[in-house]
Amino acid sequence: MLLCDFHIHTRYSDGSVGLSRTIDLYGQAGFDVIAITDHVVNSDSLIGKLAHRFRLSVRQDNFEDYMRRIDSEAQRAWNKYGMLVIRGVEISKNYMSSDDSAHMLIVDIKKFIPAGWSYEKIFIEAKRQDALVVACHPHHVSDMSRETLYLWNNREKYARYIDAWEIANRDDVFNVISLKKYRYVANSDFHKPRHLYSWKTLLNCEKDVDSVKNCIRHNKGVAITLFRN
Ligand code: ZN
Ligand code: ZN
Repeated sequence: MLLCDFHIHTRYSDGSVGLSRTIDLYGQAGFDVIAITDHVVNSDSLIGKLAHRFRLSVRQDNFEDYMRRIDSEAQRAWNKYGMLVIRGVEISKNYMSSDDSAHMLIVDIKKFIPAGWSYEKIFIEAKRQDALVVACHPHHVSDMSRETLYLWNNREKYARYIDAWEIANRDDVFNVISLKKYRYVANSDFHKPRHLYSWKTLLNCEKDVDSVKNCIRHNKGVAITLFRN
């Protein structure tokens, strides 16, 4: 099965490791498929504005550069490690209350999607781009500062737009996802090298972008594993 991680941050947002070194860390650890998913943060709240001030967000004006860098690193990763690297972002709607906040991965994104758009508009645009939508850390997490509950609280309304939910994120496992029988993946939410050792997804499919997306959407041949040093 393919060892995968679809939730990785670099210095394009709030990760501590640059893109090239991140690729090498994953390549040397033997990963088959990864997605680079730096934050695209909303700017209609105080904490959103702060993220922009500190340059912790991919923006409309550097999105093309971000895509090009990922593409060139993807080529290098394929040649050197046989590792598939997919373009992504984590749309991050940050507000003071965790009940109002939500993060979602857009995996295989092609064009910039602003985090200030409504949920419906974001989901419809992601579908138009044939990108995968993953609800991130959707329930209570051990680090309360990272909690985002909006999508879970509004799951009746939004579940139909969501291709998969994170059933595990780094050290946290969300049993509620299995109780609802939602489609799932597990990701590291990588920000630092030690986050490599965390929950991951295993997929039983071919190593190409369409097969990976189909496998997650059908959620057959999907497993999770705790990747440890
Ligand atoms: Zn997040
Ligand atoms: Zn994240």
